[in-house]
Amino acid sequence: MSDILCSEAKAFLSQPLQLFINGTWQASKSGASTDVINPSNGKSIASVASGDERDVNMAVEVADMAFREWSKRTPESRAATLNKLANKLEAEIDTLAQLEALDVGKAVVNAKGFDIPFGIECVRYYADLATRAEYSKPLNLTAIDARVHRVPYGACGFIFPWNFPFDLLMWNVIPALAAGNTVVIKPAELTPLTTLYFCKLAEEAGIPPGVINVVVGAGRKVGTPLVQHPKIRRISFTGSSTVGKQIASMCGERPIPCKLELGGKGAAVVFEDANLDKAVTQLAGAITLNTGQVCCTATRWLIHESIYDKFVEKVTATLKATAIGPSLNPATEMGPLVSQAQQDTVLDYLHKGLSEGAEAILEGGAVSISGSEGGFYVAPYLLGGSADNVCFREEIFGPAAYLVKFSSETEALELVNSLDYGLANSVFSEDLERCNRVAEQMIAGNSWINAHNVFAYGLPYGGINKSGVGGGVNCPETFYDYLRDLTVARPLD
Ligand code: NAD
Repeated sequence: MSDILCSEAKAFLSQPLQLFINGTWQASKSGASTDVINPSNGKSIASVASGDERDVNMAVEVADMAFREWSKRTPESRAATLNKLANKLEAEIDTLAQLEALDVGKAVVNAKGFDIPFGIECVRYYADLATRAEYSKPLNLTAIDARVHRVPYGACGFIFPWNFPFDLLMWNVIPALAAGNTVVIKPAELTPLTTLYFCKLAEEAGIPPGVINVVVGAGRKVGTPLVQHPKIRRISFTGSSTVGKQIASMCGERPIPCKLELGGKGAAVVFEDANLDKAVTQLAGAITLNTGQVCCTATRWLIHESIYDKFVEKVTATLKATAIGPSLNPATEMGPLVSQAQQDTVLDYLHKGLSEGAEAILEGGAVSISGSEGGFYVAPYLLGGSADNVCFREEIFGPAAYLVKFSSETEALELVNSLDYGLANSVFSEDLERCNRVAEQMIAGNSWINAHNVFAYGLPYGGINKSGVGGGVNCPETFYDYLRDLTVARPLD
């Protein structure tokens, strides 16, 4: 592994990694640290400080102090600093891609080709938006001179999962910073590497001390005190629906605004007139991208009965040909799952699905990769059968999908909308009228046509119901979410 890593990544990992508070690297108050594990071989990559409430308190206090200066800067000044940061990130795409691949287990071709450049684009997008945003909106009232004045909140808290550490960091934290807030970030304890490397580059780009702070550690030890800290003015949480509910009720106690981006169980409907090769490529890609650990991906495949056998034949051939291997190998198309626990969860679902009567369409499961023994590899698996199976209803978060045959548009839509999740679905057909009709009736935040996983800045992305609440990301509205409205009014005599 060390032979493939670039010198910057090697140097970064050779030191004990610390918390980033007030522009300085610090050990945790308790002195505790944990190992960061390489999912490709199960071995330790680095040691990282593990914080608790005392570290959170310090980080929030400095973020609150730093807000006084950062929020007073002009949008142009903040944008200039963020653009400098984007340049720094761009100059280190290789290092960031390697660290992300190594930490999460994702294929480095994807980290370098998508995750890191797309995240950097986010910095430029919000830097530009900040200079064009409307910070004061006049209200046309009788006898009152009034306006809505938009101001940042203060210190904002962010809690992240482990599947897309860099992109989720950019999508959520950058609009908050561009709007003039300061931030305290809790990355997933499993995958802190690119978040910490980002801090190094932010410091070099001239982001003032205290504006960005990172406390690594366990959910209850760091996440809970962060949400409950009285000087935290709003929370953005990305993670499971179960923890999201707990975060929402903690925020409700104070109350403070809370943006939740949660789990999903996306469906894809493939009609009889679909471009089959395209549907196969998109859906096989949906469960192998990031080893299926993608909140919005399609894991319920609803296939018209007349093309079911042909679809199965093509998709199983594609999935069998997927190159599974260690994340840093440039030939790898699908890496391991993120952890032993995630591998256990995914395999457990396979057994539960089969024991509830599912048919094994493609028998994947644990695999050992020569030279990378100890990694958390799982080959893609496909189950099929009736829609009351646990693998149809619950988020698995691995390279797996559950197939159900349908015969009519109404039946397909009923299946799509039969769960409480509401993140993303897709429809495949050459009849665009039908695509649009079906897309509009899918109950979720996002409907995609003849593709699955469609992302762009300016295209809002967010969930409803069990998949989230509070505005979503990647659009101008996300920027305005981090500004509070203050009405200023003067009666005219
Ligand atoms: P998780 O909910 O277990 O953990 C997410 C974060 O919350 C972690 O940093 C964790 O330490 C922290 N946490 C856990 N318990 C906490 C508590 N009591 N108080 C405060 N913080 C706490 O999720 P995960 O397993 O890390 O990530 C996978 C989940 O994330 C999946 O459900 C996936 O769908 C979801 N996800 C959603 C999106 C989206 O945009 N909707 C994006 C990525 C991942």
